Amino acid sequence: MLNRVVFEQKLTKETFTELHQYKKVAVLVDENTKANCYPIVKDLLPDHHLIEIKSGEEQKHLGTCEQIWQSLTDLRFDRKSFLLNLGGGVIGDMGGFCAATFKRGIDFWQMPTTLLSQVDASVGGKLGVDFGKLKNHIGVFRIPEKVVIHSGFLSTLPAEELRSGYAEVLKHCLIADSKEWNKLIAKPISDQNWEEVIPHSVAIKEGVVESDPQEKGLRKILNYGHTVGHAIESYLLDIPNRKLLHGEAIAVGMICEASLSSKNTGLTEEELKEVSSALLSVYGKVALNDEDIPQLHDYLMQDKKNEGEQINCSLLAGIGEAVFDKFVTWEEIQQSIDFYRS
Ligand code: NAD
Ligand code: MG
Repeated sequence: MLNRVVFEQKLTKETFTELHQYKKVAVLVDENTKANCYPIVKDLLPDHHLIEIKSGEEQKHLGTCEQIWQSLTDLRFDRKSFLLNLGGGVIGDMGGFCAATFKRGIDFWQMPTTLLSQVDASVGGKLGVDFGKLKNHIGVFRIPEKVVIHSGFLSTLPAEELRSGYAEVLKHCLIADSKEWNKLIAKPISDQNWEEVIPHSVAIKEGVVESDPQEKGLRKILNYGHTVGHAIESYLLDIPNRKLLHGEAIAVGMICEASLSSKNTGLTEEELKEVSSALLSVYGKVALNDEDIPQLHDYLMQDKKNEGEQINCSLLAGIGEAVFDKFVTWEEIQQSIDFYRS
């Protein structure tokens, strides 16, 4: 399998046997994964060093990479050394990027500890950091030696982070699996069995990524909800008390883009109602005012995927079926936001 993902219900010393082949091992954590996740693996690992960075997306930049590269250098890591990235998507993307570039690349594993990183960020080989305001602007594609997914880590994850990651789980079903969608929406998030839900969600992403690793075509369907969602996320980021987590913004984007799908790509009115009421029941409604609309316009128009005045979206042809490279106008997007607000 391209991504070398393993699911471990229980972590034991055997989980980490392969790490004994490395001369030196380091574990990268942030303060939250050091407190909550590292104690679970500490005594199962071979002798190792701990590298700690501050948590948060604000840390995901080249300055922090320099710190990590410096730590590896101080520890005299060579090409036979190894990095274990224990944390959410920030640790995975940045630690993976540091490992992939340190001395032209050392082996590393991803050990994702948030729902978002278990079903999304750790799968697909995209690594990197932000550059100023530009998200994931600097990076590489590199497949880790292994991705070890242990859903037990989720027990300490704050509820809002779990809910945020769940948006990507729902997205995977909407673009590729209507049966799983029906199963998920029949239960509240608190009743989901992550042991089953996560492998299923990963399999969908892996299937898409394997058919198009470099995002030349089909992989774009993973962007469903993200065109409008990203614009809303970026716009609200700097407004006091209105900042959304990624998944919360994507949930808004998925409703707007379901509305666009019903106008353009064959999603039925009934399906649109189902998608929107299921998402609203999990995420509630985000207040968007008339004054927000021109600002959203500016963010949407900056999207790299646009062609001229046309905005590129991935949309639904039905629940469980997605299409990509669908171009819509700003007027159509505005109507879809009006649908969301109505
Ligand atoms: P994150 O890594 O910031 O984690 C969210 C918060 O949860 C942090 O405060 C973290 O310290 C804390 N945390 C992590 N695990 C915990 C646990 N088990 N218990 C308690 N607290 C815990 O964010 P994220 O949502 O995991 O990932 C977001 C990042 O992932 C973004 O930078 C995004 O660009 C990236 N991403 C990458 C890809 C990709 O394909 N590479 C895909 C999607 C997202
Ligand atoms: Mg996303």
